[in-house]
Amino acid sequence: MSEDRDGTSAPESAANELPRERAEMVDRQLRDRGIRDPRVLAAMAETPRERFIPPEREALAYADRALPIPAGQTISQPYVVARMTELLGVEPGDRVLEIGTGSGYQAAILARLGCHVVSIERQPELAATARERLTELGLGDMVEVRLGDGSVGDPGGAPYDGIVVTAAAPAVPPALRDQLADGARLVIPVGPRDHQELLVIERNGDRSSERSDGPVGFVPLVGEAGFPE
Ligand code: SAM
Repeated sequence: MSEDRDGTSAPESAANELPRERAEMVDRQLRDRGIRDPRVLAAMAETPRERFIPPEREALAYADRALPIPAGQTISQPYVVARMTELLGVEPGDRVLEIGTGSGYQAAILARLGCHVVSIERQPELAATARERLTELGLGDMVEVRLGDGSVGDPGGAPYDGIVVTAAAPAVPPALRDQLADGARLVIPVGPRDHQELLVIERNGDRSSERSDGPVGFVPLVGEAGFPE
């Protein structure tokens, strides 16, 4: 490591900025834009996003945007992760199904809220890296990362207290609706490949309500109940 004239090494001083940038991200990108749930804000403040992105992009860890990760995929914008988490409305001890593990960041936030997470990813490379990272951060016991097509959910593990889909579906996969516990919510981006609406579906007995939280843009859900490859 090279030393600056003041005696601190350049990479270390950059790394030391990250906790401050994380706190600023929580204030400016989340709290100022209406994220209210103190547990979600705390989980976002405690989770090092830089650990979920390729090292060469570490300096962008708290940028207000999605970032590329391997396999042509993305880690979502911090605001979107916080908003989807808030919309799920989960409690400590709840069982949550995530479709689209990606980097593992969304799963880490849910685990920090005290949820037991089953997270399904179709890209083997991403599933393996996310599993490693979550273990290194001490969250391995709270998150089970599985390899497979999550568009059909996890019938064997249902019902879930919350289901979050972090890839865009052409329509709501019927299996995911069926796998909600009574009172649970499914948060899912639905629409064509280039723009979607973030839908919040809540099951109440035999009925379910549905509303849009607004426009979003996600990479496609690819699989049986998603887009073709
Ligand atoms: N939640 C992730 C995070 O925190 O980094 C971001 C996920 S990224 C926007 C979407 C992910 O969904 C990609 O990793 C992609 O491979 C995955 N995916 C797409 N279709 C899938 C499917 N049918 N089953 C499981 N994962 C899928």
